[in-house]
Amino acid sequence: MDFSKQLLNWYSAHQRNLPWRQDKDPYRVWLSEVMLQQTRVAQAIDYFEAFTRAFPQVDALADASEEEVLKLWQGLGYYSRARNMHATAKQVTHQFNGVFPQTVGELLQLKGIGPYTARAISSICFNTPVAVVDGNVYRVLSRYTGGDLPIDSTSGIKHFAELAQSFLIHTDPGGYNQAIMEFGATMCTPKKPQCAECPVQSSCVAYATGTVAELPKKSPKKPPQALWIHYLVAVDPVGNTLMLPRKGGGIWAGLYTFPSLERPSAELAEGSVLLEAQKIWPDQVGQVTLLHEAPVVHRLTHRLIRAFFWRVELHRALAGGYSPSAAQNLPMPVLMAEWFSAQKNPYFWDSNYTP
Ligand code: SF4
Repeated sequence: MDFSKQLLNWYSAHQRNLPWRQDKDPYRVWLSEVMLQQTRVAQAIDYFEAFTRAFPQVDALADASEEEVLKLWQGLGYYSRARNMHATAKQVTHQFNGVFPQTVGELLQLKGIGPYTARAISSICFNTPVAVVDGNVYRVLSRYTGGDLPIDSTSGIKHFAELAQSFLIHTDPGGYNQAIMEFGATMCTPKKPQCAECPVQSSCVAYATGTVAELPKKSPKKPPQALWIHYLVAVDPVGNTLMLPRKGGGIWAGLYTFPSLERPSAELAEGSVLLEAQKIWPDQVGQVTLLHEAPVVHRLTHRLIRAFFWRVELHRALAGGYSPSAAQNLPMPVLMAEWFSAQKNPYFWDSNYTP
């Protein structure tokens, strides 16, 4: 018997009894898929039951107020999922007369429905012969075939999508898709897979080659890029400072920061800071002092930022300067907000400050 058939047989004997599997109602399947995106099955069950009790059909969900929806969603997190779900319910009710579209292309037009969910709904509810690939499917296929292309690389994504499609049972695509996902979730698990009980063990490449624990592969993580930021905390004779909104894109766009110098390494002498400050405020710069020896460290996904704060005394009043309390209330990056709130005594504003 081939792999796909074996999985389907295994699934009919071992599938978990989950409330959204009672029928193939696309409303219920869709609700479960949205809830399962970042939530464990056990937790999703309670929410699924509460939602289907409160809103048995898609139009009831569409007619609910956003407040009601968010209240029921409370505790699941990622509230954008709930808002998208509510918007989709309205779209299905008003644009599609309360009937869920059937094709992947149409389903993709609904808010918050991506390729995985569109394929899952279309195959499970409408028998469309399209394979799904989620984390479970990547793991099962990678181990079963010994495929070691990284699952987060372009070539790996393409390879496993084609492989999944080639294993699909066209007479029962929904059953097969659910079978392989369930098999990955309960048998071929990330840690301690049940190889001894596995129905496809005799043809599993990873099992035969002892590489189960190594598959699937992911691309090596790049170390976060280091960035040193030197903030110039200008202090003018009336105790004002300068904060500017950041231009361009990026996560800090539009947020206010002190004028800054950004460097890829730690090297920046006091003299260089003075020169840079003089470029910004010609003929006005007095003493330049590093406020703290230790940098403020801030981690972003791909960045490791270390920030130094330099007090730059100015001889003339700043045009558009902010008082300390006004500066503190501007929208600013977390790194700066944390630095502000760590300043128990804002001595650096004091015009009589001496290091
Ligand atoms: S033998 Fe083990 S690794 Fe291979 S498919 Fe079965 S459970 Fe997964």
